[in-house]
Amino acid sequence: MARIVMKFGGTSVANLERIHNVARHVKREVDAGHEVAVVVSAMSGKTNELVGWVQDMPKVAGAASPFFDAREYDAVVASGEQVTSGLLAIALQAIGVDARSWQGWQIPLRTDAAHASARIDSIDGALLISRMAQGQVAVIAGFQGIAPDNRIATLGRGGSDTSAVAIAAAVNADRCDIYTDVDGVYTTDPRIEPKARRLAKVAFEEMLEMASLGSKVLQVRSVELAMVHKVRTFVRSSFDKPEDIDPHGEPPGTLICDEDEIVEQEVVTGIAYAKDEAQVSLRRVADRPGVAAAVFGPLAEANINVDMIVQNISEDGSKTDMTFTVPNGDLAKALAVIEAARGEIAYDAVQSEPGLTKVSVVGIGMRSHAGVAATAFKALSQKGINIRAITTSEIKISILIDGAYTELAVRTLHSVYGLDKA
Ligand code: ASP
Ligand code: MG
Repeated sequence: MARIVMKFGGTSVANLERIHNVARHVKREVDAGHEVAVVVSAMSGKTNELVGWVQDMPKVAGAASPFFDAREYDAVVASGEQVTSGLLAIALQAIGVDARSWQGWQIPLRTDAAHASARIDSIDGALLISRMAQGQVAVIAGFQGIAPDNRIATLGRGGSDTSAVAIAAAVNADRCDIYTDVDGVYTTDPRIEPKARRLAKVAFEEMLEMASLGSKVLQVRSVELAMVHKVRTFVRSSFDKPEDIDPHGEPPGTLICDEDEIVEQEVVTGIAYAKDEAQVSLRRVADRPGVAAAVFGPLAEANINVDMIVQNISEDGSKTDMTFTVPNGDLAKALAVIEAARGEIAYDAVQSEPGLTKVSVVGIGMRSHAGVAATAFKALSQKGINIRAITTSEIKISILIDGAYTELAVRTLHSVYGLDKA
């Protein structure tokens, strides 16, 4: 017997028929003798609709300002998950499975005060554990908790992944199964490279890089949590028919786990990419202590997410060039901030370029292998792809290129590291 947390995303609960399919997946695990908690998202599209209503309401009501109270945003937006948790509990009861729905406050799952993008502070697993021990399935509304002001708080878009992993940690689950509309984590985006292969296992650290570098399978924060609490997280498809799954076999999917569990570690695990990046270069900035703080302090205050940062060594020790990237959507704001800080930074000129892509090569095997970066640079140069900036960490190389070359670069890197081969 194992204790399992099963999480179903929006497309998996998109309508009553799919919710019934989910109920049969849950029954399958219950029948196999496991203790089960289920975390659900809202029906697909529902959260967008609710967010849209909240954003439009001030206008409709004739308010002068478009602002709304974040606590009321949460009250509205959290309702999508409330509906699916109740419906799934009913569907389970209808097929003879003892089940009860749980809202975040009933557990309780406590968050900080940051309504609309709250972080989880603590989860009391005791009540859930005792109900599960009695054989009752806990059907938990994802994405929500209770803030210190005693009101509902939501965890940011995509937050039900984080709910699931956090609950798995709190109830000491053996596994957290994330059922989604893809059947695992791939070596790269299969829409760009049809030869992309599903990975059987990915290390927490690699998944964290892939999630933050653009792979949309899991919310980044859920991967951080899984890594910290060592929650073995299995990504698998919810579209498989429960009846077709061999209860003793190994279902297709990707296990995100500790690197020690991965016996055959490849040097490179995957190629990720993030489109719509913009580059900003400050020319001839004074090379003195405090100048980087003068550039990036105001950008941080303006809530602009700066990603790659490259600073040149100055020839004579007096002036240097500084380049960084921001999301396309933040470019205008970033340029305004830089312009406003001109007195402080003292640069000669600023140049910018939108529409760029960051392609990244990820793999913990890089730690112990030389030449991984050189291989990427050579392969890209042979395709005539110009590299604008490079950043590296112990387990990844990120390369900034023109957006038009995204597909070519992804395919080239995928093949040069042997990821095409079965
Ligand atoms: N329903 C929420 C959203 O769409 C949470 C989630 O699906 O993870 O962002
Ligand atoms: Mg999601």
